[in-house]
Amino acid sequence: MELSMLKITSDFSMTINGESVRTQSTLPVQNPANKSVFAEVPDCGRELFEEAVKGARAAFTKWRRVPWEQRQAAVLALGNALEQHAEEFIELLTREQGKPRAGAEWEIFGSAAWLKGIAAQRLEDELVFEDEQRKVITRYTPIGVVGAIVPWNFPLLLAVWKIAPALVAGCTVIVKPSPYTPLCDLKFVELAKQFLPPGVLSCVTGGDDLGRWMTASPDIDKIAFTGSTETGRHVMRSAADTIKRVTLELGGNDPAIVLPDVDPKEVAPKLFWAAFQNNAQFCNAAKRLYIHESVYDEVKTALVEFITDNVVVGDGAQPQTTLGPIQNKMQFDKVKEYFADCKSNGYEFLVGGEIDDAADGWFVPVTLVDNPPESSRIVQEEPFGPILPLLKWSDEDDVIARANDTIFGLGASVWGADTDALQRIAEQLEAGTVWLNEVHMYSPNQAFGGHKQSGLGCENSLHGLAEYTNWQTITLRKS
Ligand code: NAD
Repeated sequence: MELSMLKITSDFSMTINGESVRTQSTLPVQNPANKSVFAEVPDCGRELFEEAVKGARAAFTKWRRVPWEQRQAAVLALGNALEQHAEEFIELLTREQGKPRAGAEWEIFGSAAWLKGIAAQRLEDELVFEDEQRKVITRYTPIGVVGAIVPWNFPLLLAVWKIAPALVAGCTVIVKPSPYTPLCDLKFVELAKQFLPPGVLSCVTGGDDLGRWMTASPDIDKIAFTGSTETGRHVMRSAADTIKRVTLELGGNDPAIVLPDVDPKEVAPKLFWAAFQNNAQFCNAAKRLYIHESVYDEVKTALVEFITDNVVVGDGAQPQTTLGPIQNKMQFDKVKEYFADCKSNGYEFLVGGEIDDAADGWFVPVTLVDNPPESSRIVQEEPFGPILPLLKWSDEDDVIARANDTIFGLGASVWGADTDALQRIAEQLEAGTVWLNEVHMYSPNQAFGGHKQSGLGCENSLHGLAEYTNWQTITLRKS
C-alpha cells in the first residue's frame, strides 16, 4: 500500500489478519469540543474477535522465528511512516480526544520516537555459567499473543508503548482502543499493514465486552493494560483463570511537594503544567499540591495569576486554546461530582469553580481549591479533570507521610533549590517515578510503572521489553 493512499481522516475499519473489516453495527465517535458524532467505527462481535485471536495465534508461530533484527526493522519503519503521516494523525487526535495542537504533536511525535527507540532495544542471551563440562544460558522467548487494552487519554501513545515492545520481542498483538477514542489506533494499525505480515498486529473496536473477552480468552497469553485501578482489578481477576501474564498501568494520585526555597513566580508555570497537562486527564498529573506554609500564599497567588493571564479552555482545534474539553460525558459527569462535593463542604475556590452545562463541548474551567482537609474526596481520590487541591505543610516527615498515605503509587515530584532535601524526600516517596524539579519526562529507556495499586510490572526500558517474554534457561552438559 502506498503511504499516500492511506485516508486517515475517514473510512474507519478494523484490521484483522491483514484485512480491512467493517461491521453492520457501528459505534459513534464524538468530538468532545462540540459533542457532534463525526465518525462511526465497527462494533466487533464475538465471532470476529475469535477470528482475530486465531489469526494472531497462527501469525505468532512464524513471527517468533523472524530474526530479531527484522522485527526491529519493521518497528523502525513503522515509526518513520507515522512521522510521515504525523500531520493527519495530529488533526485526528485533536478531533477524537480534544487535546490542543501542542499536546497532539507531543503524542504523535512521541509515538514515532517510541517506535524508533524501542526498535533499538534487544534482549541478549545471558551466559550464566560456563566451564569445560557445562554451559548454562538464560534466553528470552516471546510470550505469545498479547491483548493490548488502551484508555482514552493518550490513545495512540499508550497503544504504541505496548505494540512496539511486543512486536520487537516476537509477540503478535491485538489492540483494543477505548470506545471513546478508537480512530488513531485503527488508522495506525492500518498503516502498519505494509510492514507486518497478516495477523501480527490487529485492531478491534467495540465496547468494554471486548476487553472482557480478551482477558478471558485461553488463546491470549498476556494482557497489557492501561486504565483505571478499578478495571485493572477486573483484568487481574479474569486473567487468573488462565494464569495470563499481565502488565497493569493504573490510576494515580501523584503528590507534588513544594519546598520553602522555591521562587514562587518561576515555579508556578511548571506546577501548572504538572497538574493540568492534557487537561489533567493524565495518570501522572500532579493531583495534590503540597506547598510549604512559608511560601503557600505566594505560590498560590502566582498560580492564580498564571492561570488568569494565560489559560484558555476551548476547542483544541483553535490555535488560542491552551486546554481542551473533558474527553467524554462519563468523565465530565464524574468531574462535576468533585465540584459539587467541594461546594457542599464549603471549600474555597481560588479560581474557576463554575461549570457551564450549556456549553457546546464538555468544558471545565481550571479550578484551584484552597487548602481543603486531607480527608476530602478531592485530596483522596483521582478526579482526572482540571480541579486541583492546594495544601499547606510545615513538617517534612509529616508531608512525606501525607504524600504516601494513599493506595496509589504512580508518580511524584518535588520542587526546590536544596538538592540534598530533594534527594532525601525522593527516596522516601512510594512511587514508581519521582521527578525532581521537572515532571513528565519519559523515555523508551526509562522504566515506567506504578507501586502499590497503581500497577503491576512496567513499560519501557529493557525491563518493560522483558515483560513480553518468558525467560528460558538451557543447560548443556558438554561431555
Ligand atoms: P478504564 O479503566 O475505564 O478503561 C480502560 C480500557 O479498559 C478501555 O479500553 C476500556 O474499554 C477497557 N475495559 C473496560 N472494562 C473492562 C473490563 N472489564 N475488562 C477489560 N477491559 C475493560 O480507564 P479510562 O477511563 O479509559 O482511563 C482513565 C484511567 O486510566 C485513569 O484512572 C488513569 O489514571 C488511568 N491511566 C493510567 C496510566 C498509567 O500508565 N498508569 C496512563 C493513562 C491512564
